[in-house]
Amino acid sequence: MAARQSEEGGFVNWNRIIRVLAGGAALVGVASMPVAAQVAPPAAPGIPSNPSPIGDTSAIAREAQGWLADLVRINTTNPPGNEQMAAMYIAGILNKEGIKPEILEVTPGRSAVVARLRSAAMADPSKALLLVAHMDVVGVDKSKWTVDPFGAVMKDGYLYGRGAIDDKGMLAANLAAFIALKRANVRLNRDVIFLATADEEQGGDASIKILIAKHWDKFAAGFALNEGGEVLLKNGKVQYVAVQASEKVPVNVAVIARGTSGHASRPTKDNAVVHLASAIVKIGGYSAPVHFTTIARRYFEQLAAIEDDEIGKWMRSLDASDRGEHAQKVVSDANPLWNSMMRDTIAPTMLSAGVRANVIPGEARAILNIRLLPGDTVNMLLADLTKLVNDPQIRFEIQPDAGLAAPPSSLESDFYAAITRVAEREFSNAPVLPFQSTGATDSAQLRLHNVQAYGLLPFPLTEEDFRRMHGDDERIPLASFNKGVDLLARVLAEFAVAR
Ligand SMILES: [Zn+2]
Repeated sequence: MAARQSEEGGFVNWNRIIRVLAGGAALVGVASMPVAAQVAPPAAPGIPSNPSPIGDTSAIAREAQGWLADLVRINTTNPPGNEQMAAMYIAGILNKEGIKPEILEVTPGRSAVVARLRSAAMADPSKALLLVAHMDVVGVDKSKWTVDPFGAVMKDGYLYGRGAIDDKGMLAANLAAFIALKRANVRLNRDVIFLATADEEQGGDASIKILIAKHWDKFAAGFALNEGGEVLLKNGKVQYVAVQASEKVPVNVAVIARGTSGHASRPTKDNAVVHLASAIVKIGGYSAPVHFTTIARRYFEQLAAIEDDEIGKWMRSLDASDRGEHAQKVVSDANPLWNSMMRDTIAPTMLSAGVRANVIPGEARAILNIRLLPGDTVNMLLADLTKLVNDPQIRFEIQPDAGLAAPPSSLESDFYAAITRVAEREFSNAPVLPFQSTGATDSAQLRLHNVQAYGLLPFPLTEEDFRRMHGDDERIPLASFNKGVDLLARVLAEFAVAR
């Protein structure tokens, strides 16, 4: 998921990258060996059931653990990204399988990789299924990690490293499911396309937006599977599977206070720092009005059935004319995610002012990271904030890096039904909920190109493991990784294999 915010770039370990690439094809085989040796095949959460036309995925999942480890070792901290190295590594794996990959340059040094399994000589792009994952990762604060963030350390049944979940885990799992489909040598009813993208975390010059503009014909599809959903594990059991069908829209806004600059020994009432601070306090206490998108409404309806009685009762009352307002307060106070699913949110994230301790600055600035519900506009929200702040010294400036609102993916599509069927079967009838993610993904751009895109991070993970995404000691349980590979392969078998 994208941070949509500058992150401190980590060091690029060129020696390591060169060693990885110089190892070439040999490394692909060797790297997977120690993993298999160190980690006894653990019991996967969920109960594998019916045989699938793709067959048993446990061997390829172990192989893919090695790919994941290698991908973690290729430091793609964005900025600067340097996805080229990861792209070449992936292309090497595909080539070995007899699948011809294509490296698509987005900007110099930053590329995507695409590969295709054909269903027919002339396939219908509107039926094609795209598996997408990004190669770049957010930065790390190395001092807070207990292991090398780019060392792909395996211990206690986990693989540690930046990107282990977001999104190199999904990248390696997509690759495994795609290759498993090729190895199974089955007849496809639609083309299946593998795509590894660059610059997802910053959404800049090498992002999917530019990739689509330059190379759309290489991966045009009617359906896509991407990150953005979750399989929530609690007490060893899958609680639910959330399939992302929509996402909030990130917009950054600068709050700018102006005042008279001067000698700090003679304070004035129009001090920009004071006016900015006062405005931020008011904005911090503001809650935007609640409204429910179709996806959020369905999410709460289905979640009410599995949450405990007390909160479930309030979730069922969100729309009630008498206690709806109170229910909205209870539910939004109970969980920041639920709060963010029912309203536009504003998080002040950066402050800057001043050049010397004894100089009153003429200007002070803050950045608000705003997440709009799809359909809301930032101008309407800013009109409310202007009234609230009520200070002629303050103005708002929308930053140019705003995301675009996309229509939600359909909850009636054959693909959504296929994902639901497979997930229910694999996770002992755990409920499958549609999800509107509060974070941004590449799927918004795909949806704007008429792709029915769904987010399914396929690994069963606990809340505790989810919190490590973009945080310290990011890690993936290897049993969950294996289960994710199996789930993706079964989704492919269900939706793309001809019967
Ligand atoms: Zn991500």
